Amino acid sequence: MNTWHEVGDDVFFRCYESLALTIGAVVGDDGVLIVDTRASHDQAYELIKDLTMLTDLPVCWVVNTHYHWDHCWGNALFRAAELWGHANTRLELMEHGEEARRRVFNSLPIEHHAAIREVEIVPPEHTFSDRVSLDIGRAVDLRYHGRGHTNSDISVAVADVVFAGDLVEESAPPSFGDAYPLDWPTALDGLLKLVEGPVVPGHGRPVDRAFVEQQQADIAVTVELARAGFEADLAPGDLDFADTPFPAEVSRSVVERTYAQLAGDI
Ligand SMILES: [Zn+2]
Repeated sequence: MNTWHEVGDDVFFRCYESLALTIGAVVGDDGVLIVDTRASHDQAYELIKDLTMLTDLPVCWVVNTHYHWDHCWGNALFRAAELWGHANTRLELMEHGEEARRRVFNSLPIEHHAAIREVEIVPPEHTFSDRVSLDIGRAVDLRYHGRGHTNSDISVAVADVVFAGDLVEESAPPSFGDAYPLDWPTALDGLLKLVEGPVVPGHGRPVDRAFVEQQQADIAVTVELARAGFEADLAPGDLDFADTPFPAEVSRSVVERTYAQLAGDI
């Protein structure tokens, strides 16, 4: 699995063992566009080395699918490229990047601390709100579908391939820590309108439309459980997660974030 796979014409993905993080590479006429940059400078160096197996062309464009550390803390190694992301990705990295570093630092074993300490958090300097098309010799379409896994997730579409970032996850259940569960199914409606072929998730291997629809339904049904609990004035811990499609701890985070949205706290 730890090699490049061609998922469309000159469109590649590589799923790294670390976090099952999936990187995209789109080869243009004079340069390469990559989707996400991994979680540290060391990992980004490895990515640069791995890209030489694909092409001699330089990386001229980098797209961050959202602001999470595992997707954009390798940005500093790609300063020669145009860095693109949603406006909220830039804002979050600028305003809360150091907080995230402390959180990640404290959550990781000591052998990772030096790598996290040396990360230079570099926000994308090229941003957009709804949609932008990049011309790399072929059109690459970046779109925001509204709040979902975070307030910054975008899709990257080229030919019939859609990179979905963490709006879709294959190797594990979706992650709800910074999510807006009430909005996520609607964001996936927007994403699904673009799907004509493979969907490359932020973690794991490419999936198809049916997989995305199932994940959307799983989120929606868990959100409805949360909504019913909120309206019945039940504490999140009082809900029964046994019948939800996700592991209990994941369903619990769906419920907590849904409650926070319904209460107007986020
Ligand atoms: Zn991620």
